[in-house]
Amino acid sequence: MSENGNGSIIKVAGPVVVAEGMMGARMYDVVRVGEENLIGEIVELHGETASIQVYEDTVGIGPGERVVNTGDPLSVELGPGLISSIYDGIQRPLDQLYELQGSFIKRGSTMPGLKRETKWAFKPLIENGTKVTGGDIVGEVQESTLLLHKIMVPPRCSGTVEGIKEGEFTVDEVIGTVTGENGEKTELKLMQKWPVRTPRRSKQRLAPNEVLITGQRVIDAFFPIAKGGTACVPGPFGTGKTVVQHQLAKWVNADVVVYVGCGERGNEMTDVLREFPELVDPHSGEPLMKRVVLIANTSDMPVAAREASVYTGITIAEYFRDMGYSVALMADSTSRWAEAMREISTRLEEMPAEEGYPAYLGARIATFYERAGRIKCLGAPEREGALSIIGAVSPPGGDLSDSVVQATLHVVKVFWSLQGKLAQQRHFPAIDWLTSYSFYKQFLADAFEDKAMGEDMAKMSQTAMGLLEDEASLIEIVRLVGAESISAKDRMVLETTRSIREDFLHQNAFHKVDTHTSIEKQYEIMKCILHLHEQGLAAIERGVDITKVFALDVREQITRSSYVPEKELDKIRNIRTTIDEQIRAIA
Ligand code: ADP
Ligand code: MG
Repeated sequence: MSENGNGSIIKVAGPVVVAEGMMGARMYDVVRVGEENLIGEIVELHGETASIQVYEDTVGIGPGERVVNTGDPLSVELGPGLISSIYDGIQRPLDQLYELQGSFIKRGSTMPGLKRETKWAFKPLIENGTKVTGGDIVGEVQESTLLLHKIMVPPRCSGTVEGIKEGEFTVDEVIGTVTGENGEKTELKLMQKWPVRTPRRSKQRLAPNEVLITGQRVIDAFFPIAKGGTACVPGPFGTGKTVVQHQLAKWVNADVVVYVGCGERGNEMTDVLREFPELVDPHSGEPLMKRVVLIANTSDMPVAAREASVYTGITIAEYFRDMGYSVALMADSTSRWAEAMREISTRLEEMPAEEGYPAYLGARIATFYERAGRIKCLGAPEREGALSIIGAVSPPGGDLSDSVVQATLHVVKVFWSLQGKLAQQRHFPAIDWLTSYSFYKQFLADAFEDKAMGEDMAKMSQTAMGLLEDEASLIEIVRLVGAESISAKDRMVLETTRSIREDFLHQNAFHKVDTHTSIEKQYEIMKCILHLHEQGLAAIERGVDITKVFALDVREQITRSSYVPEKELDKIRNIRTTIDEQIRAIA
């Protein structure tokens, strides 16, 4: 038995290795396993016997091989260089490893999360002699054209700053010192490390009462998510979960996006890697990657690293949130994450609960989503940050009674329900307007600069939703007794809801203009659709033949309105005048 906390393997079961003689080891310590130094983490401890989940393939590893305890918890490196990075589940830079080793990363490879050579121009914002505590901003680095990286005092560090200097530094060089009350010194660097399993604290939690704009019409107008809010996208295979997540990553008006590709097919992640670097941010015209961090743990990569990838992602997101930014994290798919948990739990021989998932599944999912929120950040100066989480859930067969879906619905406040039927009809995004919901909808009105416009939009959204609900029952009546049996007014309703579905809710993610719609443009399109509805109803009231209303060619203009470029919003506005003219002509 060793005295330094190092032990030796007694058993290997897939991604789990059991080692004895791990004196002084603690839960969640990171260890190096076997002659190849595979990276692992202690997930169960009985005396000096530790069960370790290994983040790399354990093939060929056997009893007797050594296990070395690093004594550190699983952590991520945080500092300039995060933006535009592509990491695996334990923050190894995939792009750099690919370059070095090809597409099969050698086991035991270590490469720091942040490049050690790059020099960053650091500008201090405080003076020597300033008293600081964890979270205080001491200076900044212009990391990318889209991100001003705030350098913060690490958690649990406090004292007086000395020797702070302006200049070019690597993440590893000392930029100043903090001397504590008892004279203990901490070196300040551009980089710090945070453990991934512990949520980062905040000064205060704030109500998530501001809408995060996604440019996706069905989401923004009907089922919005708040800055600091939580949403889930469940749906059967092929209904567009990944496309929704990609669309949000591209267009959401957050300062930073963390995208976790978790257990999905390798080629989907390749799509992201190929596509994202070419995208341009619509808000700034800069390459989108200048505000994105990608974490990829595809289905062909080790299962334990997939379990960790979600924590790696959320910790990076919390770090940017603490700078006072609005951060959005997408995880696709949390079902694959839960399956990784299940696999490890089985190997640990834990008692399974429903569908073989561990009993703590619900608690883990809740803890993950609870890391979202709008908050007052720790440290000076006063600032607010927000972290929104959007998780895709892919239950087998799209079954919503699935454990992962149920546990997720318990905690999230927005539910975008993807329906196989809509996807089959090629109605994308296949978000079902009748079963989806958002607890943040009350904040939609404030998403507009113009107050009156916002209130009008909230009202129109309610009207449109009411009409869609009427449609569902009208369709049923038509099915039973035929179209002739319903009134002209109801036929107008069906005509309008068709327009709401086809001209507003349907949105082509792959069309240059249609892919993103500003909130103002969403307003104008909706306004036209409902204006025609009102004018049509009024005409019928005056005795005009309804077929004449249906034959108006202004309807063609409404159909094309989502393809009108943002710069030409007046064109959509003018449709309303055309509606009035054409109605007058038939009345
Ligand atoms: P899932 O992740 O649910 O398995 P995907 O996101 O991969 O499904 O979507 C499957 C296919 O559906 C896409 O390849 C695309 O052809 C189509 N699709 C989904 N959403 C849209 C959209 N908004 N616009 C156009 N096509 C879409
Ligand atoms: Mg998918």
